[in-house]
Amino acid sequence: MSARDTADVLVVGAGLAGLHTATLLARRGHDVLLADRRRRLDGAIRTTGIFVRKTLDDFALPPDCLGPPIRRVVLYPPDRRRPVVLDSDRDEYRVGDMGALYPAAAREAADAGVRLALGTRYAGRADGGSLLAGPDGVARVRARFVVGADGARSAVARDLGLDRNTHLLVGAEEVFPVADGGGPPTFHCVLDPSLAPGYLAWVVDDGRHAHVGVAGYAARFPDGLRAALRRFATGAPGLPAGRPGEVERRGGPIPVGGLLRRIGCADGLLVGDAAGAVSPLTAGGLDPCLRLSRHAADVLDDALRTGRADALRHYDGAALRAAFRGRLLLRRGLAAVRTPAMAAAAFPVLRTAPGRAAARRVLFGDRSFPDPARRTVS
Ligand SMILES: Cc1cc2nc3c(=O)[nH]c(=O)nc-3n(C[C@H](O)[C@H](O)[C@H](O)COP(=O)(O)OP(=O)(O)OC[C@H]3O[C@@H](n4cnc5c(N)ncnc54)[C@H](O)[C@@H]3O)c2cc1C
Repeated sequence: MSARDTADVLVVGAGLAGLHTATLLARRGHDVLLADRRRRLDGAIRTTGIFVRKTLDDFALPPDCLGPPIRRVVLYPPDRRRPVVLDSDRDEYRVGDMGALYPAAAREAADAGVRLALGTRYAGRADGGSLLAGPDGVARVRARFVVGADGARSAVARDLGLDRNTHLLVGAEEVFPVADGGGPPTFHCVLDPSLAPGYLAWVVDDGRHAHVGVAGYAARFPDGLRAALRRFATGAPGLPAGRPGEVERRGGPIPVGGLLRRIGCADGLLVGDAAGAVSPLTAGGLDPCLRLSRHAADVLDDALRTGRADALRHYDGAALRAAFRGRLLLRRGLAAVRTPAMAAAAFPVLRTAPGRAAARRVLFGDRSFPDPARRTVS
């Protein structure tokens, strides 16, 4: 990157959304610069990395970066007694080894021709260009389009005058290696608003790693997020006895207000968390970010080829948002569970056949982020 650089597309943020968008565009022959403030992509990871079946079916993720399949979910009330065990006859989830997966995706991007600038922070817009502060100082990059893939608190969204996330959860987790205890890989979920207000506390143990985490509304943790995680980690269900040796800590904000309405304009667009592309109910964002990135690459490719100023009008969050109505309603329901007694009251229903069927639909269902119709400007 030189002090004055040009590109067809500048992508800010090399999370999964930015990496995927950049790779697809470069494969179609466009000149793409991808900048991330992280110096290495195998560190400062913010996600548990649970991929759902639909994603595993539809996207070619490197198999050596995925943990063993998980078919069992166990739901616990606050007192952890009489949990509801749900088994699927299909492989429902696999946990990504994100420390390997991001670098693998970056190699794929570089092979496609993406110019990757790590340790390089997007610092705003000036004179029709984007300012990037990197190891060699500040450069001004002129790009036909800017893609904001810079996460839940996107600065690109702010600078392009697009919508921004306001409805957020915060989450934190500890990750450590475990010995395979011989039991089935399991996703343990504890519904207890004193630990995870508005969401859940989890242990995912796939026989290789355990992820122990909590997430919820920041203002509602009785003694803060970190303290809630500490409380949960002592005696969380499904864990081997004794404290682990080396622990990796992850965490970050999770937008759960649904896809934002205004996610594109004449100068660029948003993908991934920056666009609010996260399931409001499950808080899963990996499937949505891959699907929306595919749509973004189609729209940008079309815009670059035709040169038409209105090509980005097909990138419309308001139209896609309709598909989230049901999940937004359920999010409101989950947010309303404010006391352990309220969470406990849901369990007699969850233990009935219709209750279990409803839980299975949410946890093992085939719904995912709506695949936007592949339209071209005529
Ligand atoms: C604790 C936690 C656990 C989660 N677990 C799951 C899960 O198991 N399954 C699931 O589906 N979803 C999960 N999610 C949600 C999911 O991780 C995200 O939706 C998804 O990773 C979003 O990808 P992204 O590329 O949009 O953003 P990110 O992965 O956040 O990437 C944004 C990138 O932008 C970079 N960046 C930011 N600002 C700048 C700047 N100014 N200049 C340059 N670079 C910048 C950052 O360094 C980062 O690399 C979880 C979220 C959290 C917080």
